[in-house]
Amino acid sequence: MQLIFASNNKGKLKEINKRLPPEVNLITLWEAGITESIPEPYDTFRENAWGKAAYVFGKTGIACFAEDSGLLVPALQGAPGVYSARYAGEPADDTNNNTLLLHNMQGINERAAYYQSTICLMLEQDDIHYFEGQCHGQIAEQAHGQGGFGYDPLFIPQGDTRTFAEYGPDEKNAISHRGKAVADLATYLNDRFFRP
Ligand code: IMP
Repeated sequence: MQLIFASNNKGKLKEINKRLPPEVNLITLWEAGITESIPEPYDTFRENAWGKAAYVFGKTGIACFAEDSGLLVPALQGAPGVYSARYAGEPADDTNNNTLLLHNMQGINERAAYYQSTICLMLEQDDIHYFEGQCHGQIAEQAHGQGGFGYDPLFIPQGDTRTFAEYGPDEKNAISHRGKAVADLATYLNDRFFRP
């Protein structure tokens, strides 16, 4: 089965690759000939995930899935939220985003935060399925670790003292928002197509 992953984010691709059933041949946007950046005009994860999947399906006619994700800090009224990738402006830059987040958290004691991941699977124009995952934790006082991507050096999962950037890939995947959403996607594909 050919399935396009509608994202150019290398961090996401690394985390998703090899977690789908072996029958799935995962195709990158680049391999599908889509080099332009796909618009994300909506203010919900679900609509943005749908928008990216619909864009790719419309251009290729090949089954695809898109993931929209972000970090939400209730003390900052849910920011950076759906704007996580471009929190500190364009072009998207993880270091600048982390610096701005730490700046905006100055003087705030309530440091709870969570990641949200929403996947939209589009098998046909009217055959659409959503999978979601969340991961709760808190924002560190300063960055730690070299692994992961995005806000991982600042995100301490619940029950730990290390940041996600100090986790190994499998360890992060076992509890992460994306790990949960992708596991549900894999189960759906298995149940419907490969191991019903
Ligand atoms: P999207 O491409 O609009 O979904 O951007 C998602 C953004 O959310 C990323 O660029 C990161 O800034 C942030 N993000 C989502 N998931 C993670 C994660 O697992 N670790 C760190 N940052 C993440």
